Amino acid sequence: MTRLRVALAKGRLYEPSVERFRRAGAALAPDAGRRLLIPSSDPAIEFLVVKPGDVPVYVESGAADLGVTGTDVLRESNADVLEPLELGFGFCRLVVASPEAAPYPLLPGGITARVATKYPRLAQAHFGSAGRPVDIIQVNGSVEVAPLLGLSHWIVDLVDTGNTLRANGLKERETILTCGAILVANRASQKLKLDAYLDLMDRIERSGNGTA
Ligand code: AMP
Repeated sequence: MTRLRVALAKGRLYEPSVERFRRAGAALAPDAGRRLLIPSSDPAIEFLVVKPGDVPVYVESGAADLGVTGTDVLRESNADVLEPLELGFGFCRLVVASPEAAPYPLLPGGITARVATKYPRLAQAHFGSAGRPVDIIQVNGSVEVAPLLGLSHWIVDLVDTGNTLRANGLKERETILTCGAILVANRASQKLKLDAYLDLMDRIERSGNGTA
């Protein structure tokens, strides 16, 4: 039997991903406990639960055949993987934001803006392609607090409702990328396990008419 290993990201995308696979006939085993490889109701499909940023790494390397990740994480990683299906959940935007009262995009005295972000590659590419010099400061969380503390002038971060930006006195200035959950696949295993791959792809696609 050909087995497909699917990497799922912890965090916001986890529950809707599990629900989508359940409707596609691969429900995660309920008693997985602390096991890292989790069997499913379909013996041909097993799951691996990892940090969101690791999904592209596992799939590109072939340690997992498939994975669910966000477009933001995927583009930041620059991983060479197939992108067969957008899943229709986990929508958000990667934006540039800065303090409401501060002038934008020009800073007083013509100084170079410092930009705090978890997405250094995407942020650099955005400003670089427009010929706008910035200094990128990489942080791993609580990005919205950086301007309040003087760590940076601007941030590049994900926005869903906009509540977090507003609560921290920040205003959305530019959209860099619209993001959503996406199914990714390893290039070689798509060929080597083609029948199993096409079967699962079909089931996931057809299970997409519900809420997730
Ligand atoms: P919101 O207040 O609804 O605009 O949500 C913004 C906060 O949630 C920020 O801290 C984001 O980093 C985080 N966030 C929003 N959407 C996502 C997503 N799809 N994946 C991961 N984090 C997200």
